[in-house]
Parts: sequence; structure tokens; C-alpha cells
Amino acid sequence: MDKTLARTPMDYYPTYKDNDNRFLDDVSDFSASVFKEIGVVCPCNKKTYYNKYTFIHVHCRSIKHLDFLTSLKNKSADILKTSVERKNEIKTLKVMLGKSNQQIIRLSTEIQKLKSMEEENNELKIQLASLEEHLRDINKEYEDFKKETLERNQKIETFSKSILESFGYDIE
Ligand SMILES: [Zn+2]
Repeated sequence: MDKTLARTPMDYYPTYKDNDNRFLDDVSDFSASVFKEIGVVCPCNKKTYYNKYTFIHVHCRSIKHLDFLTSLKNKSADILKTSVERKNEIKTLKVMLGKSNQQIIRLSTEIQKLKSMEEENNELKIQLASLEEHLRDINKEYEDFKKETLERNQKIETFSKSILESFGYDIE
């Protein structure tokens, strides 16, 4: 049975070196016999290689492969740049969110203050209304007293007049 038909070739991928931000070829994961018996596919041209030596010393030095490494590096730089931009955006949004939260807290406090002022105001209105009622009562009492006094004075006057008249005094 043909081994190349029995097993699909393995995918090769360059290694990312974080410290100098580039992609390098590292074929140490694939032995010469893996190349020979299974084959290794390079993503730059999708071709299968069966000779480790040829792969490292010929293919990995080809312009197509080197361009591929450069494009990976540029792509990762773009991804890195985008991620830094996103991080900054998130930072800005967090600051904005913090500010609007503070504003919400401040406004809530203001609303609370206004509410308690309104409550106080209502309380004062009730107090004023009951004071006015009390004042009306006093006024009515006073008016009644005035009326009674006037009536009493009238009676006294009439009574005094009749007494004086009965004693013969002439009163105009
Ligand atoms: Zn390649």
C-alpha cells in the first residue's frame, strides 16, 4: 500500500519570535523521515515537500517563501497595531464611562436633594395651611367677640337710657 495515499501530508507553519517580532523557519518538529514518508506542506505555495534538506536549503530561501515570511510579519504588525488601537479605544471608553458614572451619581444626588426639598416644601405648605386655618379661627373668635361686645354695649346703653329716662333725665 502506498504510504503517501494512506496519510495526508503535515502542515508546516513558521515560528513567531515574539522578542524580535518576526517569523522564522524552524523545521525541528518534522524529522527527515516524516518529510520522506508523509510529506510536509508549505502554506506559501501549498506544495508538498518530501525532502527536509531541499525544503530548508532551497525552498525556505526562495523569494516566494521569504516574501511569505515578510507578509506574515506585516500582518502580525497590523494585528498588533490594531490591538494597540483597540486597547487605547477601550481605555478612552473606560474613562468616558467612569466620567458618565460620576455624572450619574452627581445627578442622582441632586435629584435626591430636590426630592427632599420638595418634601420639606410640602411639609411647609401643610404647616402654612394649618396656620392659616388657625388664624381664621382666631379671627372668627375675635369677630364674634366684637359683635357680642357691641351688642352688650348696645344693651347697656339702652338699659342706662331707660333708667335715666325713668328718673326724669332728658337724654337726646
Ligand atoms: Zn514556503
